[in-house]
Amino acid sequence: MHQADYDMIVVGGGPGGYTAALYGARAGLSVLVLEMLSAGGQMATTENVDNYPGFPDGADGFELGEKMQQGAHRFGAITKYEEVKGLTLNSQPKRVQTSKGEYTAHTIVLSTGANPRRLNIPGEDSLVGRGVAYCATCDGMYYRGKTVAVLGGGNSAAEEALYLSKICPKVYLIHRRDALRAEKSSEQALRQTENIEFVWNAAVEDFVLGTDQSLQGLVLKDTKDGHTWQLACEGAFVAIGRVPNTTLVTDKLELNAQGYIVADETTRTSVPGVFAVGDVRTKAVRQIVTAAADGAVAAHFAQEYLKTATQQ
Ligand code: NAP
Repeated sequence: MHQADYDMIVVGGGPGGYTAALYGARAGLSVLVLEMLSAGGQMATTENVDNYPGFPDGADGFELGEKMQQGAHRFGAITKYEEVKGLTLNSQPKRVQTSKGEYTAHTIVLSTGANPRRLNIPGEDSLVGRGVAYCATCDGMYYRGKTVAVLGGGNSAAEEALYLSKICPKVYLIHRRDALRAEKSSEQALRQTENIEFVWNAAVEDFVLGTDQSLQGLVLKDTKDGHTWQLACEGAFVAIGRVPNTTLVTDKLELNAQGYIVADETTRTSVPGVFAVGDVRTKAVRQIVTAAADGAVAAHFAQEYLKTATQQ
């Protein structure tokens, strides 16, 4: 096998990435994690993680990210804070170009995540945590007892609305058309839920803020006749799809129609020695715990790949 700087380079330091690093390092591999900002990825932006086992009082997402990093570092993995600019995946060893230089590795674990699609309305980012949210399972509890709106018409929007209907007295489901994209079974469940009200043919034009600068309502525009009106709500859950962070591998790996890296439960991608973990890969449930599970699996199959490669 050709010489390389590392056995494994992990791109992205979220829960999937650091679990791959932990398992890889514990198995004796030399592991480099490349992270742009801070450990934890999207999880680091979540104040209270209540659905990761082992934390009966919940966990601060930022701290959990740091602990995952420390766990991997304890076994010898290292982190460099550098932005990955390019990847050469079909060479041996594989090459990773960053903002500071180039590294080589026998295996690559991609853990670049996915971000919720934004509405792209001015003020949206500053309202996150003060009325705008992108995950009912993560943030729904902050809106318990309040009137909320869910934006979108797909399966995610349906799930968010059904989840919120159990903790909020009133849930508006606002969709830009007059027919849902969600499966019929979900639509039936929505229709049978008394406190969910559909708002059809409506697009969010603007946010209405209270004196404390938190969300008090939405300005909606009828997508058919263009008239606008205000709808009072204290929470707006945006569920209009997700955007995977795959710009680095477009044309290099097989992606599905939505842009996710095609990888099954083994986390193996279309290129041998390259693995995809967490939200960036094709999978049914995108959660911290499933991303972490992917990391362990990727480290296992990375070792298997290394064994086969050394025998060649
Ligand atoms: P999705 O299926 O792509 O639906 C996105 C929804 O948001 C659509 O209704 C779309 O409207 C709307 N939308 C998109 N851009 C918008 C914009 N700029 N403004 C307003 N509305 C906008 O996304 P998803 O619901 O996140 O689901 C993603 C994938 O995961 C899907 O394949 C879904 O089936 C799957 N999923 C499955 C389950 C499950 O099986 N339990 C649960 C969740 C998700 P239009 O309909 O007009 O395009």
